[in-house]
Amino acid sequence: MSPTPLADDPDQPDSDQPDPTPSQQDLDDADFVLFAHPPKAIAKLVCACGDDYPCDEVRFAQLVKEGL
Ligand SMILES: [Zn+2]
Repeated sequence: MSPTPLADDPDQPDSDQPDPTPSQQDLDDADFVLFAHPPKAIAKLVCACGDDYPCDEVRFAQLVKEGL
């Protein structure tokens, strides 16, 4: 039983390199991800005083008004 010499052909690309061409499975996964993760715009109110609306003062004022 003689040891088999490892093939070391410099013309052969390393088979461990990732295939630059995406497989059908990769394309299906990409379609699913793009479908499941659409961009989402979030409307955010900002108070004139610079804090997120309602700021602490507005919340307190609203509580005062609701208590009337
Ligand atoms: Zn404010």
